[in-house]
Amino acid sequence: MQSNKPIGIVGGGLGGLASAAVLAARGHKVVLFEKSPWLGGKAAVLEADGYRFDMGPTILTLPSVLHKIFGEAGKKLDQYLDLVRLDPQWRCFYEDGTTLDLSENEGAMAQTLDRFAPGAAAGYRKFLKHSQRLSDISQKYFFWRDIGSIWDMFNSREMLKPGLLGDLLALGMGRSVASCVRGYVPDTKVAQMLDHFTQYVGSSPDLSPSVLCGIAHMQTGEGIWYPMGGTRAVPVALAKLAGQLGVDLRTSTGIRRILTDTSEKAIGVETESGEKIALAAVISNSDSVRTHRELLPHTRAAKRFEKRRKYEPACSGVVLYLGLERRYEQLTHHNFVFSRDPDEEFHAIYNEGTPAPDPTCYVCAPAITEAAVAPPGGEALYILVHTPYLREGHDWSQMLPEYRRVILDKLARTAGMSDLEDRIRFESFLTPEDIQNRYRVLKGAIYGLASHGTFNGAFKPGNRSRDISGLYLSGGSANPGPGMPMALMSGWIAADALDQDSKSGKIDEPARRGEAVCA
Ligand SMILES: Cc1cc2nc3c(=O)[nH]c(=O)nc-3n(C[C@H](O)[C@H](O)[C@H](O)COP(=O)(O)OP(=O)(O)OC[C@H]3O[C@@H](n4cnc5c(N)ncnc54)[C@H](O)[C@@H]3O)c2cc1C
Repeated sequence: MQSNKPIGIVGGGLGGLASAAVLAARGHKVVLFEKSPWLGGKAAVLEADGYRFDMGPTILTLPSVLHKIFGEAGKKLDQYLDLVRLDPQWRCFYEDGTTLDLSENEGAMAQTLDRFAPGAAAGYRKFLKHSQRLSDISQKYFFWRDIGSIWDMFNSREMLKPGLLGDLLALGMGRSVASCVRGYVPDTKVAQMLDHFTQYVGSSPDLSPSVLCGIAHMQTGEGIWYPMGGTRAVPVALAKLAGQLGVDLRTSTGIRRILTDTSEKAIGVETESGEKIALAAVISNSDSVRTHRELLPHTRAAKRFEKRRKYEPACSGVVLYLGLERRYEQLTHHNFVFSRDPDEEFHAIYNEGTPAPDPTCYVCAPAITEAAVAPPGGEALYILVHTPYLREGHDWSQMLPEYRRVILDKLARTAGMSDLEDRIRFESFLTPEDIQNRYRVLKGAIYGLASHGTFNGAFKPGNRSRDISGLYLSGGSANPGPGMPMALMSGWIAADALDQDSKSGKIDEPARRGEAVCA
């Protein structure tokens, strides 16, 4: 039935923007509500005193996801974004003073490893081969599809796919990332580097399923990219596309409640200023758990969602934004300054819920690629340290000064940045509480829900709500998970599911682009 109402999207993060663009490209009328004055959510920007910092994501992988989203509207990505490929992908600094560059080329990497850890190259090649298999399996069963649990993988269509049994065996269910990595590469320093792909999803390598080892191949295969203008350029490009497609983008418009009818079907939203807006369907790009707890309180649907599983937040983090008067030649664009002991580090963050005593610092030095981020000769240094999600008693206004010292000492000791503090001309920071409040996430989690559980840790809440008709979930805390490409893919899947449901009559047909809507 034609409803003559638009589709509403709650939240203008990457997932929300992707959903908006895809639905509009398919001819639907869309209105997007974002509580903040900017679009892009965590992909925000900080500009001050001649420095420009990406505040959240800095590492962009899997550009094919962006190509597909822009392709929905018949657009070429390069009309909107100037992407530069970065190689080496990361530089790793170890406590013993050694460094190791991760390069995308397998042959070059094998040669480097032969010098760095004799014997590790052959294991690395085998690891990458396995990683490719896992990446292929993810493409085949998990990606671009509304999957909410292991059972969704085994619907009748999947049972007919050739090679299912072999794929299941290759998944190595029950095995952790840490165990899988060490099965191929026992060298402790190389293993520490490979473990770090799980930090893209804010989870412990000991607790995460080995299928996540597929991330290594996704990164080496498609590369790491820097959008000129910073990763901020990604939401800017998406918002431009959505605007061109006629999406009504309403910033500074928080949503207080998703409205449901007596059969608990999503029928609209109520803004924080009390306006009620009738909608054909709703996509929530707000954190999936907070959507149910705060926007759908006291509904039977929210209770069912809560009962389905335990929702453990991924890790949080502290970011220091340091405007420097100099650059550090030893750094490349992306750097990991590794902890002295990954077991101690991950145990503290993921098991004990306390900041690691000697943390890994991710350091982004973008001036090497785009000098305009800082005054001449300077650097807009970004330092991210993962911390536990917010626990009772955590108060980062008290904890930050001491932890800042730990971070600066670590960079001096392990990355040779001993004069760092004297070179600071501008300083700002982001704490777990800031992350929680700015982006309305669960307990300050950077990457949505943790991927813990070696059997089902990879599964996130499905994109088509299992509990409420007319509600769809997009973003890092919904399927397929966190990180820029996955949040974008999540937005596409939610939009595609909604579009399919409108065609098959499962929900009322939304208004078409350009059509007047019923109030
Ligand atoms: C410090 C940091 C570093 C990161 N580094 C990387 C990286 O290098 N590479 C990478 O790939 N990923 C990284 N990530 C993760 C990545 O940023 C996220 O996975 C991704 O941006 C999440 O997108 P999302 O669609 O879930 O939306 P979010 O960014 O979570 O945005 C959701 C939006 O919804 C809005 N909203 C919520 N509730 C309401 C409401 N009730 N009404 C209206 N609006 C609402 C919020 O204001 C927000 O704008 C990082 C994140 C952080 C914070």
